Amino acid sequence: MKESRALPPPGVLPEERGALFLWVRRGLPLAAAAFAFLGAALHTAGRGWWLLGGVAALAAVWPSFLRGDASHPSRTTARRQDSLWAQAFRPLARWLHLEEAWILSYCGHNNRRVREAFCGRRAKRALILLPHCIQLARCKAGILDDLQACYDCGLCPVGDYMNLVLTNRWEGRITNRSHKAYREAREYRPDLVVAVSCSDRLLKGLTKMPEIPCYVISLGLPHGMCVDTDFSVPHLLAAMETLVEPRRPSGEVQTLRREGIA
Ligand code: SF4
Repeated sequence: MKESRALPPPGVLPEERGALFLWVRRGLPLAAAAFAFLGAALHTAGRGWWLLGGVAALAAVWPSFLRGDASHPSRTTARRQDSLWAQAFRPLARWLHLEEAWILSYCGHNNRRVREAFCGRRAKRALILLPHCIQLARCKAGILDDLQACYDCGLCPVGDYMNLVLTNRWEGRITNRSHKAYREAREYRPDLVVAVSCSDRLLKGLTKMPEIPCYVISLGLPHGMCVDTDFSVPHLLAAMETLVEPRRPSGEVQTLRREGIA
């Protein structure tokens, strides 16, 4: 009988890095507002237009300061606008060879807002979304249809994830298409999504589902895109323990482990 591996210990959620995005998101409209109000003070002709421009710039930056309930419509608007900013400056970031840093900075900003929103009231109905590429490419276990088809051989993160799902009674989906993940999320109607994916898909997901607060964890790509990818299971565990009401039953749960190899 194969020896059971210990489940990964819960960690502390890492610091989120969103400074780059926030400097652009707030800095540009604030600078534009200052410029417009200065223009209004110096140019009496067309002062109304200068003032209008200044007010518009302030209106653009205002949602980035909103705080409070993650499900409030104003937060959806703020998330939608943040995504638009991230998408709008992506070509420039790519040109500067900062595309990955730019998207991850936006993700960090988003995560910080999600953590603020759920620090006093944890999510009751959370859904985990994972990409199929975390499964070892040569593994034949049919985890897309049944997570428990995994043999927990330890060659990819799926085994650890399965054991945590069974122990903690998490709700999760592993999908091989982004649109399926969005459909699963909309059908389940979670109050929080915890999503793992590459930076490109994380940005796409945050843009497509602004109505659902989403804590995102980026994939490691040691073998390139979409093949044998990796992610930090302790990071996922820390996110779930920090942001989500525990559903773990008081009694011990026997996790399912099978003999076999991929
Ligand atoms: S059997 Fe092994 S390689 Fe296959 S999904 Fe499970 S842990 Fe990954």
